[in-house]
Amino acid sequence: MKLSLIVPCYNEEKNIRPFHDAVVNAFRNENYDYEIVFVNDGSRDNTLGEMKKLYSEVDTPIRILSFSRNFGKEAAMRCGLEHATGELQCLIDADLQQRPEVVVQMVRRLDECPELDCVAAYQAERSEDKALAFFKGRFYSMINEMSDTEFRQGASDFRTFRKPVAEAVLSLNEYHRFSKGLLSWVGFNTEFIPYEVQQRAAGESKWSFGKLFQYAIDGIVAFSTAPLRIPTLLGAALCAVSLVMLLVNIIVFAVRPDAFSYDSLFLFLITLLSGLQFLCIGILGKYLAQTFEQSKNRPHYLLKEQIEPKQKQKEKEEV
Ligand code: UDP
Ligand code: MG
Repeated sequence: MKLSLIVPCYNEEKNIRPFHDAVVNAFRNENYDYEIVFVNDGSRDNTLGEMKKLYSEVDTPIRILSFSRNFGKEAAMRCGLEHATGELQCLIDADLQQRPEVVVQMVRRLDECPELDCVAAYQAERSEDKALAFFKGRFYSMINEMSDTEFRQGASDFRTFRKPVAEAVLSLNEYHRFSKGLLSWVGFNTEFIPYEVQQRAAGESKWSFGKLFQYAIDGIVAFSTAPLRIPTLLGAALCAVSLVMLLVNIIVFAVRPDAFSYDSLFLFLITLLSGLQFLCIGILGKYLAQTFEQSKNRPHYLLKEQIEPKQKQKEKEEV
């Protein structure tokens, strides 16, 4: 079974050779055929030069795809999936935080279990700083609450899967991509194995807190329309409050007409009108949510298997 290692690279000049050597080392005693698909995501350093140098010096099957500018890791992964030729495909970072030995483990599992379609690694222990770990934890519980798609705590894009899974992910053509979500959305049998995140071999992370926050928002927007329901809830709450105010006004007017003030009537009217406005925005949100879902143009379903009636099978065999 041939494996394609898809490696998005942005300013990773010092990691290209060590990454290659680590892969060769991990697969040395294994009987698996593999290729490395490097995607140079518009690096500003000599990443492309290092890739070409490696290409000319080693026998390992290497494919190089180089972007005209930095399009982001998601675009690089998509490009890698489009060009990889293996029956098994693995998404892995270039910085050796994800060890190729874990890939060997993943491939073994897929080899042993034909019913498995994907093996995903999750971070058993979070090694990053406490604030970041806290926000990541909050993000996962929030998105799981808001979305029908399941997001596993600590799971990254580090996965190995069969070609049909890759084809399914590619059939989702949306522009703002959130691979963790897409890989979960497409279904298929996935097994999660724990792995230990290593220190970056060289260079530094491209993800600032701000960028991660933006990515988290992208994930929520791509996989949930729950935020569009906020105006409906707010509108309903304001209308309920305004009705209570109306009731209080009526009682005051009936019991102590001298204490009744027109100001409170105005307050009731303002609250009611704001409530109705929010409700109208909520209705617009509902239509917007449906238009948004439609615009993503995701397939209505994905077939994994299809068994024809016996009669038809015979006919096919005869032809
Ligand atoms: N990466 C990329 N394009 C980008 C940012 C990152 O291709 O715009 C690649 C990067 O070279 C690395 C992987 O994505 O191979 C993960 O990036 P990084 O190590 O910076 O993320 P972290 O591990 O800190 O989450
Ligand atoms: Mg990294």
